[in-house]
Amino acid sequence: MVSTTSSGPSTGDPSSPVRTTCPYCGVGCGVLVSMPDGPGGGVEVHGDREHPANFGRLCSKGTALGETVDLDGRLLQPWVDGRQTDWDGALDAVAQRFGALIDAHGPDAVAFYVSGQLLTEDYYVANKLMKGFIGSANIDTNSRLCMSSAVAAYKRAFGSDTVPNCYEDLEQADLVVLTGSNLAWCHPVLYQRMLAAKKQRPDMRFVVIDPRRTSSCDGAALHLPLRSGTDGVLFSGLFAWLYDNGHADAAFVEHNTQGFDETLGLARFYTPSVHSVAEQCGLPAADVEAFYRAFADTARVVTLFSQGINQSSSGTDKGNAIINCHLLTGRIGKPGSGPFSITGQPNAMGGREVGGLSNQLAAHMEIADPAHRELVGRFWQTTTLAAEPGLKAVDLFRAVEAGRVKGLWIMATNPAVSLPDSNRVRRALEQCECLVVSDCVAETDTMKHAHIRLPALAWGEKDGSVTNSERCISRQRAFLPVPGGARPDWWIVAEVAKRMGYPGFDYASPADVFREHARLSGFENRGERDFDISGLATLDDDAYDRLQPVQWPVVAPGGTVARMFENGRFFTANGRANLVPVTPRPPARYPAQAYPLVLNTGRVRDHWHTMTRTGKSPRLSGHVTEPFVALHPHDAAEVGLRDGELATVISTWGEAVLRVQVSNAQPVGAAFAPMHWNDQFAACARVGSLVNPACDPLSGQPEFKHTPVRVLPYRAVWYGFLLTRCELEPQLATYWSKARRYGLWHYELAGEVAPDNWAARARDQLCGTAVDAEWRELYDSTQLNYRGARIIDGRLDAVIIIGPGYNLPPRDWLVALFKKQRLEPTERARLLRGTPPRGERDAGAIVCSCFSVGANTLTRAIREQRLQTPEEIGAALRAGTNCGSCVPELRRLIVDAMEAPGD
Ligand code: SF4
Repeated sequence: MVSTTSSGPSTGDPSSPVRTTCPYCGVGCGVLVSMPDGPGGGVEVHGDREHPANFGRLCSKGTALGETVDLDGRLLQPWVDGRQTDWDGALDAVAQRFGALIDAHGPDAVAFYVSGQLLTEDYYVANKLMKGFIGSANIDTNSRLCMSSAVAAYKRAFGSDTVPNCYEDLEQADLVVLTGSNLAWCHPVLYQRMLAAKKQRPDMRFVVIDPRRTSSCDGAALHLPLRSGTDGVLFSGLFAWLYDNGHADAAFVEHNTQGFDETLGLARFYTPSVHSVAEQCGLPAADVEAFYRAFADTARVVTLFSQGINQSSSGTDKGNAIINCHLLTGRIGKPGSGPFSITGQPNAMGGREVGGLSNQLAAHMEIADPAHRELVGRFWQTTTLAAEPGLKAVDLFRAVEAGRVKGLWIMATNPAVSLPDSNRVRRALEQCECLVVSDCVAETDTMKHAHIRLPALAWGEKDGSVTNSERCISRQRAFLPVPGGARPDWWIVAEVAKRMGYPGFDYASPADVFREHARLSGFENRGERDFDISGLATLDDDAYDRLQPVQWPVVAPGGTVARMFENGRFFTANGRANLVPVTPRPPARYPAQAYPLVLNTGRVRDHWHTMTRTGKSPRLSGHVTEPFVALHPHDAAEVGLRDGELATVISTWGEAVLRVQVSNAQPVGAAFAPMHWNDQFAACARVGSLVNPACDPLSGQPEFKHTPVRVLPYRAVWYGFLLTRCELEPQLATYWSKARRYGLWHYELAGEVAPDNWAARARDQLCGTAVDAEWRELYDSTQLNYRGARIIDGRLDAVIIIGPGYNLPPRDWLVALFKKQRLEPTERARLLRGTPPRGERDAGAIVCSCFSVGANTLTRAIREQRLQTPEEIGAALRAGTNCGSCVPELRRLIVDAMEAPGD
């Protein structure tokens, strides 16, 4: 049985902070966690100054980690068929049911769907069980949705899944091209490192290539708002232009690459001139040429790409179009140069290393390569190694729906929300014969379909390692005791494997698993495979616990390589990189009349994935409190929508009801909606249900950035909001969303039918009606205006405001009243008007999460105090002076305040 206590602080001193790693994005920042009042007291989180990813910085999400570690909503005991059980019962049930399905239908009748949230050790054991012993390669990961196109592109170009760069390259480059990446919001600490470098070297330039004007554009010299899906055209055009204008590195192309003639031929064919590129991409020719000249004239160029490139039905080709330009100019393997794919998840890279994708084997080996299969089979001492690639994510759930996959084990992910065409995924889950879900959260949209629920450890309890986007392996260390019956994922999988009768799963600790993983990476490697951490294979338990962040490869203890391909040799048979001929393909077209807009999906600054963690944090939930769809003013006007109204967004696959944000940052014809909201946080805001499940033919990565949609006004009869200290089920509303604020829940509401008696229904709805409470109410005979407030012992307990239109009083002043122990008479008097007493002002939506500074406060200060820089704002209001994540928004507010007339 695994230990049920924390592994303790890394220093061995219980009073010292624990060094661990942020569990959110692929930057992989080091954090220091301390609990001055002991377990059960508060958790203090600071950036680790010694970690090479962040050098002490944290973004808003990392800074708020302490608000996410409570046990609310945790799954703490195993359940089988709706009944709580013990671990023996649950593990036996998984082993017996999966074993029976395999006996009856063969190994491909079962599958695992895992996650970039797993630690490398968890991932390794799951992959070993499925591919090595069950004998199927039906294990895929939610990282398929994030960066599998980048993996496929790297493998085509380099013969290996090798990220060439390190983070320092972003500081050493003279030109950073951000394409398909809103780095300022999605990888904020890297963006801050770039801004800091630019401060030191003001000549450093950023170019942003993105259909939207995002926060990342604010520090950019050039923004190219290209037409959605045309990145392949832009970079194919760059390739041809660079060559035709004499900017190729002829020696590098000749000695270090192959495939030049065909690549150039196709690039010239599809992009014969700058004007052709400009027309196809919907850009001014002068801007295209300016970008091409900047790339040509700058020796140190990094092209950083992310989901905007990868999440496409031609994502692999787009990746290769980018890599081709770097190979053509020899801008790879040198400081400040290279095509740099940034991963979304904290351990997407660790998953790649252990073979978490269904078409890979462990240790960056290929399942399609018989020599690799033989080698891994010998290392694992198995004769049942999977013989061919398994199903990729979208196809895997199709196979579940079709009944070909009958047993599915989902670990640490929520595909009922996050996969494209997620309504179809739900149907598949409903009819799965045996669905096992291991997660730390009790209620997720996926968990509710599970026959067997297994409680896993959460961040703060887990112990193992992760690899970030620059190949840096860091320890995630436990600082909290193991709660209830929760267990580490590696242990759960190993116990099932043992019960299924498989040898080789007798691990005593994550260190045991890590040593085996490291040994396999070096097993008969001889420098032929990029991933080699055999230098870490002999770490004893203490050395593993103390392991400092280290970039792979590590072929000898203490060895590390920051930047790959410095010698110009690649992992292809002859050592030359492949220039890959690219045929730019636009996304599939749909009837423009039925679906006139293109939906792009992505993230907001302060939420992560399906909000199972960030939704717990009031600090993070204050930034964007509601699911939304952003539209250009022209598109909104076309369908009669105004900012703040509700809209139904409809695609071939599903629909969602979202708040409208009218924004000039959107291009005409394009909508944007964040991916985070699910059935736990909103009535009908699962954006995954809208998304086109078309996939890249090589990588299997779905097209999250380009779904044809139409947008219509959502005709509510009434609108409202509810602020309450109790979490509740909003029974009155057909539209609702909720956000956690400090000490309360914030619900936005709307309905298609008004109740007969608002006063009675509102009192019914609010919990604790038996409590002796003071009610204040205002309503009229139309039943479409109702305002009620409940006060208990002089303290505000709930406010509900209903009206016939969406223009309701501001929420933030009312939210602030919940912090008061007793309402002042003037506040009581104004309560139902929802507006502050004279002299007080509504702060507006939170911009700076760290110091709770709202947009209205900032705008007023900018105007009244004539603040012109984020630094001046910081001096006046502290906003932007802690994590810095809001600095791009502060810049935007300064510009907006200067442009707009004062109020
Ligand atoms: Fe965590 Fe933010 Fe660092 Fe990403 S950038 S690892 S979310 S602190």
